[in-house]
Amino acid sequence: MEKYDVIVSGGGPIGGHVSKKISEKNYSVAVLEKNNEIGKHLNCAGLVTERVFKITKLSLKTIQNKIYGANIHSPSNYILNIGGDHIHALVIDRTNFDKEIIKQAERKQVDVFLENKLDHVEKNKDKLRIIISEKEEFECKILIGSDGPFSKTRELFNFPAPKEFLKGIGAEVSNVSIDPNFVEIFVGKNVAPGFFAWIIPINNDGTAARLGLCIDSNALYPPMFYFKKFLNNKYTQTFLKDAKITRNIMGVIPLGALKKTFADNVLLVGDAAAQVKPTSGGGLYPGLLSADHCANIVASSLEQNNFSSIFLKKYHKLWYKEIGKELNRGMTFRKIFKKLSDKEFDKYICRFKNPKIVDIINKYGDIDYPSKLASPLIKKNPSILKLAKNMLKK
Ligand SMILES: Cc1cc2nc3c(=O)[nH]c(=O)nc-3n(C[C@H](O)[C@H](O)[C@H](O)COP(=O)(O)OP(=O)(O)OC[C@H]3O[C@@H](n4cnc5c(N)ncnc54)[C@H](O)[C@@H]3O)c2cc1C
Repeated sequence: MEKYDVIVSGGGPIGGHVSKKISEKNYSVAVLEKNNEIGKHLNCAGLVTERVFKITKLSLKTIQNKIYGANIHSPSNYILNIGGDHIHALVIDRTNFDKEIIKQAERKQVDVFLENKLDHVEKNKDKLRIIISEKEEFECKILIGSDGPFSKTRELFNFPAPKEFLKGIGAEVSNVSIDPNFVEIFVGKNVAPGFFAWIIPINNDGTAARLGLCIDSNALYPPMFYFKKFLNNKYTQTFLKDAKITRNIMGVIPLGALKKTFADNVLLVGDAAAQVKPTSGGGLYPGLLSADHCANIVASSLEQNNFSSIFLKKYHKLWYKEIGKELNRGMTFRKIFKKLSDKEFDKYICRFKNPKIVDIINKYGDIDYPSKLASPLIKKNPSILKLAKNMLKK
């Protein structure tokens, strides 16, 4: 039986990062990854802010493109153009990003076990016995579940489930014709019910893109139905007429950050804890921020030989204070967004095209902290508050 201070279940970016941070503090850490390769399935649009690079300290070589703004298309194709002044986001090669994060961890002496799927856990005094499907066993003092949206750790320890799961589908395409500096976003019940669709330029000549959409659980049809329609939509044809699919994207986004992410000897982080922005589906930034707190608390817990839930609760408090409130506000914005009809999308996108409103969006808009925009926007246009209140009552 292999013995470690900490076992991290899931070798995604959040598991890789948290394992590196704990190992840096001189504790023994192993990552268990069920797949035979890191970053095997592409489940991401790859849009992040530079904060992600500040946290991970990764070199910039996984950056494929820089994004200056967005064109938001209403159901009738009224277009709201925002940004354009400076870099708002970066497009990353997500497969290589995941691999680089794991390499960083391995350089800090983290052991990575591929094809090791966490299956079962037994408590043995103050230690955990981790049982893998192929009968391998590990022992640890702390288990960190970073095993994604359908976290086995979350299930085994009866943590609460995320409030919602969005179904995502997409592809990488070549032969497109798109402004390389702008993301195209499409909203509407027939395009992506409950969320939105996107086309993201992934090179700087606008000939390759990552596109996709997410739908919520109330959507009438499966994701593929909407995706086929999106590829042939008259408003996407200007960009996608000759597009050739080079890689498929598929995945699930958990929303509604968990109210409890700690138990005796166990913590959850990343998608396993639904630490995801409900407005954009972005989970890398909130997951990495939370992973830093997780690593710090795990290190003090090992130092003090105290693995109780009372001690580990500090992790929950810290990540919640730093990003949890913002994620909750995001859920409120999402409630409003989900209630907008196609006519209302058309109406409000036209109203937002007012240059004074665009200026405010450009000044305060931040994809990691969308709530920063709310109060300046309401100040300029108080009717937005009335709309929000009415929508929440609906
Ligand atoms: C369509 C789509 C688009 C997205 N676009 C963006 C975006 O543009 N920007 C952004 O920031 N985020 C985006 N996200 C979200 C982002 O992909 C996730 O938030 C991120 O992957 C979370 O990382 P993680 O390490 O927590 O989980 P994951 O990346 O899901 O990694 C979990 C790992 O655990 C492994 N695992 C699962 N179960 C077990 C087990 N029992 N034992 C061992 N290993 C296991 C899995 O194989 C996987 O490698 C998108 C998601 C989707 C679906």
